Amino acid sequence: MSDRDFVPQDLPIQSLKTGENGAARAGMAYGPQSPFSTGMRSRCPRCGEGKLYKGLLEVRDGCDHCGLDYSQVDSGDGPAVFVILILGALTVLGALLVDSIFEPPYWAHAIIWAPFIVGGSIGLLAPFKGILIALQYQNKAREGRLADPTNDQDG
Ligand SMILES: [Zn+2]
Repeated sequence: MSDRDFVPQDLPIQSLKTGENGAARAGMAYGPQSPFSTGMRSRCPRCGEGKLYKGLLEVRDGCDHCGLDYSQVDSGDGPAVFVILILGALTVLGALLVDSIFEPPYWAHAIIWAPFIVGGSIGLLAPFKGILIALQYQNKAREGRLADPTNDQDG
Protein backbone atom coordinates (compact mmCIF):
# COMPACT_ATOMS: atom_id res chain seq x y z
CA MET A 1 0.00 0.00 0.00
CA SER A 2 1.57 3.24 -1.11
CA ASP A 3 0.81 6.81 -0.19
CA ARG A 4 -1.24 7.06 -3.34
CA ASP A 5 -3.80 4.65 -1.91
CA PHE A 6 -4.96 7.30 0.56
CA VAL A 7 -6.22 9.50 -2.23
CA PRO A 8 -9.80 8.67 -3.19
CA GLN A 9 -9.84 7.76 -6.85
CA ASP A 10 -13.27 6.46 -7.76
CA LEU A 11 -15.41 9.42 -6.79
CA PRO A 12 -18.07 10.72 -9.10
CA ILE A 13 -16.74 14.26 -8.56
CA GLN A 14 -13.36 13.23 -9.89
CA SER A 15 -12.79 13.86 -13.51
CA LEU A 16 -10.68 11.79 -15.80
CA LYS A 17 -10.40 14.61 -18.30
CA THR A 18 -7.46 16.27 -16.71
CA GLY A 19 -5.98 17.99 -19.67
CA GLU A 20 -2.54 17.46 -21.10
CA ASN A 21 -1.21 15.23 -18.32
CA GLY A 22 -3.90 12.61 -18.75
CA ALA A 23 -5.94 10.52 -16.39
CA ALA A 24 -2.93 8.98 -14.68
CA ARG A 25 -2.30 12.27 -12.92
CA ALA A 26 -5.88 12.70 -11.72
CA GLY A 27 -6.02 12.27 -7.95
CA MET A 28 -2.50 10.94 -7.68
CA ALA A 29 -0.23 13.94 -7.74
CA TYR A 30 -1.75 15.58 -4.67
CA GLY A 31 -1.34 14.53 -1.08
CA PRO A 32 -4.23 14.33 1.34
CA GLN A 33 -5.68 17.76 2.13
CA SER A 34 -7.26 18.83 5.39
CA PRO A 35 -10.98 19.33 4.68
CA PHE A 36 -11.04 22.12 7.27
CA SER A 37 -8.10 23.95 5.75
CA THR A 38 -9.35 23.71 2.17
CA GLY A 39 -12.93 24.45 3.24
CA MET A 40 -12.07 27.51 5.30
CA ARG A 41 -10.02 28.87 2.41
CA SER A 42 -12.72 27.89 -0.16
CA ARG A 43 -10.22 25.85 -2.14
CA CYS A 44 -10.35 22.63 -4.13
CA PRO A 45 -10.67 19.53 -1.87
CA ARG A 46 -8.14 17.57 -3.95
CA CYS A 47 -5.26 19.98 -4.61
CA GLY A 48 -6.01 22.73 -2.09
CA GLU A 49 -5.04 25.36 -4.66
CA GLY A 50 -7.87 25.97 -7.13
CA LYS A 51 -10.82 28.13 -6.23
CA LEU A 52 -14.06 26.40 -5.23
CA TYR A 53 -16.52 29.22 -5.94
CA LYS A 54 -17.25 31.71 -8.63
CA GLY A 55 -18.85 34.68 -6.97
CA LEU A 56 -20.08 34.38 -3.41
CA LEU A 57 -21.36 30.81 -3.06
CA GLU A 58 -21.78 29.34 -6.55
CA VAL A 59 -19.57 26.29 -7.04
CA ARG A 60 -17.41 26.43 -10.16
CA ASP A 61 -17.60 23.79 -12.89
CA GLY A 62 -14.21 22.41 -11.95
CA CYS A 63 -10.88 23.15 -10.37
CA ASP A 64 -8.76 25.54 -12.41
CA HIS A 65 -5.59 24.04 -10.93
CA CYS A 66 -5.97 20.24 -10.96
CA GLY A 67 -9.06 19.81 -13.15
CA LEU A 68 -11.26 18.11 -10.53
CA ASP A 69 -14.84 18.09 -11.80
CA TYR A 70 -17.19 19.76 -9.29
CA SER A 71 -20.39 18.78 -11.12
CA GLN A 72 -21.32 16.08 -8.59
CA VAL A 73 -20.60 18.25 -5.56
CA ASP A 74 -23.68 18.78 -3.40
CA SER A 75 -23.49 20.03 0.16
CA GLY A 76 -27.28 20.27 0.42
CA ASP A 77 -28.71 22.11 3.41
CA GLY A 78 -25.82 21.15 5.68
CA PRO A 79 -23.98 24.49 5.68
CA ALA A 80 -27.18 26.43 6.36
CA VAL A 81 -28.00 24.24 9.35
CA PHE A 82 -24.61 24.89 10.95
CA VAL A 83 -24.82 28.63 10.24
CA ILE A 84 -28.36 28.86 11.65
CA LEU A 85 -27.44 27.02 14.84
CA ILE A 86 -24.18 28.90 15.46
CA LEU A 87 -25.37 32.36 14.46
CA GLY A 88 -28.72 31.91 16.22
CA ALA A 89 -26.99 31.02 19.48
CA LEU A 90 -24.53 33.92 19.17
CA THR A 91 -27.32 36.37 18.35
CA VAL A 92 -29.53 35.35 21.25
CA LEU A 93 -26.63 35.38 23.71
CA GLY A 94 -25.45 38.75 22.41
CA ALA A 95 -28.92 40.28 22.49
CA LEU A 96 -29.51 39.08 26.04
CA LEU A 97 -26.13 40.39 27.14
CA VAL A 98 -26.56 43.80 25.47
CA ASP A 99 -30.10 44.09 26.80
CA SER A 100 -29.15 43.26 30.36
CA ILE A 101 -26.17 45.66 30.40
CA PHE A 102 -27.36 48.65 28.34
CA GLU A 103 -31.16 48.19 28.29
CA PRO A 104 -31.49 49.72 24.81
CA PRO A 105 -34.89 50.23 23.09
CA TYR A 106 -36.08 47.45 20.76
CA TRP A 107 -35.26 49.41 17.58
CA ALA A 108 -31.63 49.54 18.72
CA HIS A 109 -31.58 45.74 18.83
CA ALA A 110 -32.83 45.66 15.24
CA ILE A 111 -30.08 48.04 14.16
CA ILE A 112 -27.42 46.02 15.96
CA TRP A 113 -28.47 42.46 15.18
CA ALA A 114 -29.87 42.64 11.65
CA PRO A 115 -26.47 43.47 10.07
CA PHE A 116 -24.81 40.95 12.41
CA ILE A 117 -27.14 38.19 11.21
CA VAL A 118 -26.91 39.10 7.51
CA GLY A 119 -23.14 39.61 7.55
CA GLY A 120 -22.52 36.55 9.70
CA SER A 121 -24.63 34.35 7.45
CA ILE A 122 -22.81 35.47 4.32
CA GLY A 123 -19.44 35.19 6.01
CA LEU A 124 -20.00 31.74 7.48
CA LEU A 125 -21.77 30.01 4.60
CA ALA A 126 -18.77 29.88 2.25
CA PRO A 127 -16.36 28.20 4.69
CA PHE A 128 -18.97 25.75 6.01
CA LYS A 129 -20.01 24.83 2.49
CA GLY A 130 -16.35 24.37 1.58
CA ILE A 131 -15.74 22.13 4.59
CA LEU A 132 -18.75 19.94 3.82
CA ILE A 133 -17.78 19.65 0.15
CA ALA A 134 -14.24 18.66 1.17
CA LEU A 135 -15.61 16.09 3.65
CA GLN A 136 -17.92 14.75 0.94
CA TYR A 137 -14.92 14.36 -1.35
CA GLN A 138 -12.67 12.72 1.24
CA ASN A 139 -15.30 10.33 2.59
CA LYS A 140 -16.62 9.44 -0.86
CA ALA A 141 -20.12 10.48 0.21
CA ARG A 142 -22.70 10.10 -2.53
CA GLU A 143 -26.27 9.13 -3.10
CA GLY A 144 -27.19 5.59 -2.19
CA ARG A 145 -27.38 3.07 -5.02
CA LEU A 146 -28.93 -0.34 -5.22
CA ALA A 147 -26.41 -3.15 -5.01
CA ASP A 148 -25.64 -5.01 -8.19
CA PRO A 149 -27.50 -8.37 -7.84
CA THR A 150 -25.14 -10.06 -10.29
CA ASN A 151 -22.19 -9.25 -8.02
CA ASP A 152 -23.64 -10.56 -4.76
CA GLN A 153 -20.58 -11.60 -2.73
CA ASP A 154 -22.00 -10.91 0.71
CA GLY A 155 -24.65 -13.61 0.46
ZN1 LIG B 1 -7.89 21.20 -7.56
